[in-house]
Amino acid sequence: MTAPLKYKRVLLKLSGEALMGADPFGINRDTIMRIVGQVKEIADMGVQVGIVVGGGNIFRGVSSQAASMDRATADYMGMMATVMNALALKDAFESLGVKARVQSALSMQQIAETYARPKAIQYLKEGKVVIFAGGTGNPFFTTDTAAALRGAEMNCDVMLKATNVDGVYTADPKKDPAATRFDTITFDEALNKNLKVMDATAFALCRERRLNIVVFGIAQEGALKRVIAGENEGTLVHC
Ligand code: UDP
Repeated sequence: MTAPLKYKRVLLKLSGEALMGADPFGINRDTIMRIVGQVKEIADMGVQVGIVVGGGNIFRGVSSQAASMDRATADYMGMMATVMNALALKDAFESLGVKARVQSALSMQQIAETYARPKAIQYLKEGKVVIFAGGTGNPFFTTDTAAALRGAEMNCDVMLKATNVDGVYTADPKKDPAATRFDTITFDEALNKNLKVMDATAFALCRERRLNIVVFGIAQEGALKRVIAGENEGTLVHC
C-alpha cells in the first residue's frame, strides 16, 4: 500500500531562474526536463498540479535592462517572458506524455487559453497540469504574488516555492556558514524575524488565505516527491 499523500492539490511556483540551469539566461533543456520529470512523478501519484512560472531568466521589469523604461511597459515585457517559459514547460510535459494546459492572464488566444478559473479547476480535476502564465496580468506585481493568487483561487492545499536554496535559513547561507535551515516556521515568526520567504504582497495573501508555503530546492533529485510525502524537505511556513 502506498502512503497517503500529504497534499492533493498544489501550486508550484517556479522562478524563471530555475529554468536556466547553469546558463546565464534563457531556458536550459536538460534543466527543464529534470524539473518536469519531478512534476510527472507527483502527477503520476495522483497529485493535482498548478504551476506559476516566472520570467526572470528572460526579462524582469526591475532589471538593469529596463532601468530607463517606463515601468509598466517593462512589466508587460516581463509578463510576456513568463508566457514563453510556460510554452516551453508545456512542450516539455508533452514530450513526457503528461497532459498540460497553459492559461495566460494576458489574452494571447493564438498561443494560449486566457485564464478562466472554472476551466482551470476542471483541468486540475482531470489530472492535467495547468501552467499559469502572464503573472497576475498587472504591472507592479510579481509572479510570487500570481502564485499566491492562483494558489488561493484554485483552493490548493499548499504553495510549493521552488528556489535555488533548499529552504528558509536563519541568515543567507552563502554569506554566513553558521546559518541553519528552519524545518518549520510560522508566518508570524517569519515576519518578526524579517525572513524573506516571498515578496510582501505574496506573503500577506498566503497568510490571509491560510495557504501554507513549502520553500524547497528543486535541484535535488526527488525533492518534490519528498515534499508531497510530507518528509522533512525544505521549510514549511504555516499558520
Ligand atoms: N510581472 C508583472 N506582473 C505580474 C507578474 C510579473 O509585471 O503579475 C513582470 C515583472 O516585470 C517581473 C517579470 O514579470 O519582473 C518576471 O516575473 P518575476 O520577476 O516574478 O519572475 P521570477 O523572479 O519568478 O523569475
